Amino acid sequence: MSKIRSHDTKPELIVRSMAHKMGFRFRLNGAGLPGRPDLVFPKLKRAIFVHGCFWHGHRNCPRFTLPASNKRFWKRKLLGNILRDKQNYRRLNRLGWSYKIIWQCQILSDDSLLYKIKNYLEAK
Ligand SMILES: [Zn+2]
Repeated sequence: MSKIRSHDTKPELIVRSMAHKMGFRFRLNGAGLPGRPDLVFPKLKRAIFVHGCFWHGHRNCPRFTLPASNKRFWKRKLLGNILRDKQNYRRLNRLGWSYKIIWQCQILSDDSLLYKIKNYLEAK
């Protein structure tokens, strides 16, 4: 947990491989967009964030619990991450992009993830 973002983490790879199998073309590592979405679909102007529940503060998620020590530090730190995420979402929208967040916990437990991705990317 030393880095806020690490690339090529497993959840990202799973989502990428799903999108790839469904035949969607995408770019990685943000393609210059606010917040550097994990998957960017330039033709569709859609982006997918694969978020770690802890670092991005997934609400009501068992994976999002503050460490027992240094609570104040973590609260501030994670709140900062959450606010920064929100700013980035707004910036994306202003640029005419939509986005979808896929949480780490959903990747591990949600069988319908494939359909969620498909529905998002194929919606008119
Ligand atoms: Zn979660």
